[in-house]
Order: sequence, then C-alpha cells, then structure tokens
Amino acid sequence: MELETLRDLYIDELKDLYSAEKQLTKALPRMARAANDPRLAKAFNNHLRETERQVKRLERIFKDLEERPGGKKCVGMEGLIEEGKELMAEKSDADVLDAGLISKARHVEHYEIAGYGTVRTYAMILGETRHAELLQETLDEEGAANKLLTQLAEGSINIEAAMADGEDMATSRTRAGGKSAAAKRGSSRGREREVSRRTSVEGDGAGGSRGGGRSTKRETELTAL
Ligand code: FE
Ligand code: ZN
Ligand code: FE
Repeated sequence: MELETLRDLYIDELKDLYSAEKQLTKALPRMARAANDPRLAKAFNNHLRETERQVKRLERIFKDLEERPGGKKCVGMEGLIEEGKELMAEKSDADVLDAGLISKARHVEHYEIAGYGTVRTYAMILGETRHAELLQETLDEEGAANKLLTQLAEGSINIEAAMADGEDMATSRTRAGGKSAAAKRGSSRGREREVSRRTSVEGDGAGGSRGGGRSTKRETELTAL
C-alpha cells in the first residue's frame, strides 16, 4: 500500500489496530484462565467482551470508508502477546504470575492507547467526526482497563506477589487455582504491613491514590494520550 496522504496512513493504522484487537480476542481468554485471582480473571473476561465491541466499532468505520479491514498483521501486538505466552509457560508462584499477567496486560493497554489516540486525532483532522467519536469511546475503555489493572496490582496483587514463598509453584496449565494468597494473608500480617509500606513509598509509577505525586501525574498524562 502506498501512503501518499494522511487518509492512506489513517486507513493503514486502522488496519493495524483491527489486527491487534483480533489477536487480543484470542489472547484474553488464555490470560483469564491463567489468572489466579478471580478479580483479575473477571477483569480479563470483561475486557474480552469490550474488545469484541471495539472490533465492531472498527468494522463500522471500515464500512463507512468503503475499505476492507484485513490484509495487515500488527506485529507489535503479536510480540506483546508472545511475551504473555512466555510468562504463562514459566513455572511460577500463582501470585507472582498474576502480577506478571497484569504487567503484560498493561503493556497491551498502553500500546492500544497510543494507537487509538493517534487515529482519533487523524479522524478529527480529516473531518471524520463520527469516526473520532467512536475511536474516542474505545480510547476511554482502554484507559479504564489500564486503570483497573493498576488498581488491582497496587491494591493487593503486587503485595501478595511480594509475599510469595513458592508454595504454590506451578505452570499455569496444571495449577488447580489457588487459595494460597488468602491463606498467606492470614498468617503474615506484619510482613504484609511492611511490604505495604515499602510499596507505597516506591509505587510502580502508575496512578492510584498512594505513591508519589509526580509519577502519578506522569501516568495520568500518558493515559490522556
Ligand atoms: Fe482494545
Ligand atoms: Zn501494530
Ligand atoms: Fe484493550
């Protein structure tokens, strides 16, 4: 495809996003199955349904443009999903795996946020106001998904991972689905407080009510892209 105009680039980027979303609809169920924490599994399943709606939105835009969505593979998303597969193939403590799944998923959301922010802006410049509205809806959903994942991580899952003792080591395929985190919660109050204190000082540079104001602000700016 020759890219002579911004419209050509707009269509090219939309095709890339379409491929990215289609790949994600296959990856999210695997991530939901691998998740140990039921809240994380639910977040992945909810985002799967959201992702299916995002695919539909892109199809509406392609129809309006009288273009076909196929013919391009998003290799960026392919790589991000591959990293998730590598993580899930490792022998991991269940809580550490959950923290890792959140990390991989947040990489995906930030990648999508960059893509949708870009095409939303192109749509506005090209006078495609309706497209811009649809793309903004998806952009908002990706931002919210990232925020929820951050809250799950900072609220408890990172802390549970920090307390991991390898007792529930397993590959995601054979793991029975653990109650280990809850059991550990009961027995290590002091340690949990200590971890909690350290986490709130260091944060992971990503939003939330705790942590440093500067890193929180930076994350908010990123999400606003
Ligand atoms: Fe998406
Ligand atoms: Zn791509
Ligand atoms: Fe997403």
